Amino acid sequence: MIPFVSHAGNSGSLFRALFSQIPVAALLIDHSGVVVKKNPAFNSFWSTGPEIRDGSFNIYSSVFSGAGDFAETLRTVFRGKGQSSREYQIDLSPYGDPRGLRTLSVTMVPVLSGHRVTSVFLLIEDVTEQRVADEKIHRLVFYDTLTGLPNRNLMLDRIGQRLSYLQRYPRNDALILVNIDRFRVINDARGNQVGDAFLVAIGKRLLSLMREADTVARMNADEFAILLPSDEASAEEISMKTLIVIERIRESLKNPFEFEGEMAIVTASYGITLLPGGKEDAPVAVLRRADTALHRAKAAGGGHYAFFDPDMGNSASESYQVERELRRALSNGELRVFLQPQVNAQREFVSAEVLVRWQHPTRGLVFPGSFIPIAEQTDLIIDVGEWVMERACEILVDTGSMGLPLRLSVNVSPRQFRNRLFVPWMRELIARTGADASCLTLEITESLFMGDLENTVMKMGQLTELGVRFSVDDFGTGYSSLAYIKQLPIHELKIDKAFVQDAPNDANDAALVETILAVAALLNLRVVAEGVESEPQADFLNSRADVTHQGYLFGRPEPAEKWIDQWKRAGSGCILTP
Ligand code: C2E
Ligand code: CA
Ligand code: CA
Repeated sequence: MIPFVSHAGNSGSLFRALFSQIPVAALLIDHSGVVVKKNPAFNSFWSTGPEIRDGSFNIYSSVFSGAGDFAETLRTVFRGKGQSSREYQIDLSPYGDPRGLRTLSVTMVPVLSGHRVTSVFLLIEDVTEQRVADEKIHRLVFYDTLTGLPNRNLMLDRIGQRLSYLQRYPRNDALILVNIDRFRVINDARGNQVGDAFLVAIGKRLLSLMREADTVARMNADEFAILLPSDEASAEEISMKTLIVIERIRESLKNPFEFEGEMAIVTASYGITLLPGGKEDAPVAVLRRADTALHRAKAAGGGHYAFFDPDMGNSASESYQVERELRRALSNGELRVFLQPQVNAQREFVSAEVLVRWQHPTRGLVFPGSFIPIAEQTDLIIDVGEWVMERACEILVDTGSMGLPLRLSVNVSPRQFRNRLFVPWMRELIARTGADASCLTLEITESLFMGDLENTVMKMGQLTELGVRFSVDDFGTGYSSLAYIKQLPIHELKIDKAFVQDAPNDANDAALVETILAVAALLNLRVVAEGVESEPQADFLNSRADVTHQGYLFGRPEPAEKWIDQWKRAGSGCILTP
């Protein structure tokens, strides 16, 4: 509807005729909200209200004012340049309407004088029936009548929404198709009514296991679908989360369903796909992939799951297994702390790096390479990292109290560092254990300087105030920008072992090591060379700068207790480097 422009003369009487004869309730409101005119249709529409009987009322102090942002919308129309009218839906109970709450559609048409909006027409229609019908249609189209869950149409719609979201924010969601095994048998043996009740109960159970953000839908007879939107960046993380969800469903299905006094237990098969599957992914394509996976799972004989991409499934289920075992390992005390010495050019021991190991009940001693990357996919790394840090502090207290001060380097994973509670946790730990924070070096990696640098800088500052020092681990493998190193409270660079080991023979690596040494000298940083295994490697470094060495040439990582015992017997503290 275009804005109404008031003129004197003929159009005035035309307007009056129109206003009084249109069958739609209409009001003319001035800028202060006073009703200047109302038409006969309005009087019969709004039959008995006191406001109406008074002859005039103010829209801003009427029943309208309390309804949502109606008043604000109207003010916007008055403030605007009057270029367009507004439609507004409002739920109100008009005075005296025995039917109670009604949905009114209010069209606000600005009336212009020059460029100013001087008054506004309100055209008011009762659209309650229409809305009820709309909702009914919507329910029929998008919801399953038996279970009340979203149906296939709504699931396709949601997948479509997620696909466009995932184009903007690159990460992965997962879709799980859940198909009840041997459902036909139940239906045939007990009849459709029991079958239906069963599906309703399964739907309820699935829904109760999911988060609010997840969509649970009934796709067809005995098939449900679950869309898991992810906050995670990587395919591995969402795959693992999916397996956790499936495990939760399996556990829950172990509880029998009860119908007419009889108990029944079911299993289900699960087909999983991640989305998006490429740039051109579409909702039906997602469903087709999940369905392919489901067929493979079914072929395995019920109770199984399959990923559309089998590689994803294999690595996810391995990771999942390791994650579960690692959680148990933490509470069973299977983790161990090893120490590896760091020495100066004179081969005097100056400090040690703390390295975690897992004493697995059947697999023996497991190296961090096969569980730290998995722990890093979830917050489990925080638990592992905290456990190691606590042991490190205990060692500092133990050796400190013996008069044998020790400097320890502890690895801190980016996820652990980024955790909101990391700084307060460290503060509390140092206070609780009484460890000398100035003997503690945190090894962080360059990836921490990507992303929220401001936050990283702030946290590093807070930790530095506690006395803690920072070392950049695997220096040279990441995004090595000197710009950030200058800005940050960094004490030490660790040259990655790949460069150290090849430096004597590879001109490129030699040049890189020399550059790092030059930078470190310029910025007055300590340098630790990792992975020194041979004399030529040690010589290469010693001939160029004052470097701390860490490597098999000087000592392998050894169990902390053994190491500390030996060292106590030797009876001298390490040389605490400035
Ligand atoms: P990293 O921080 O680069 O640790 C140095 C790794 O090099 C250690 O492997 C160490 O045993 C190994 N290494 C030391 N000297 C030599 C040598 O002369 N030759 C060779 N070939 N290797 C040497 P490790 O203990 O297997 O640890 C692997 C990685 O696991 C570590 O790499 C670190 O990134 C991670 N990690 C270990 N413990 C922890 C921990 O407590 N927390 C976290 N977040 N990560 C840890
Ligand atoms: Ca390290
Ligand atoms: Ca390293």
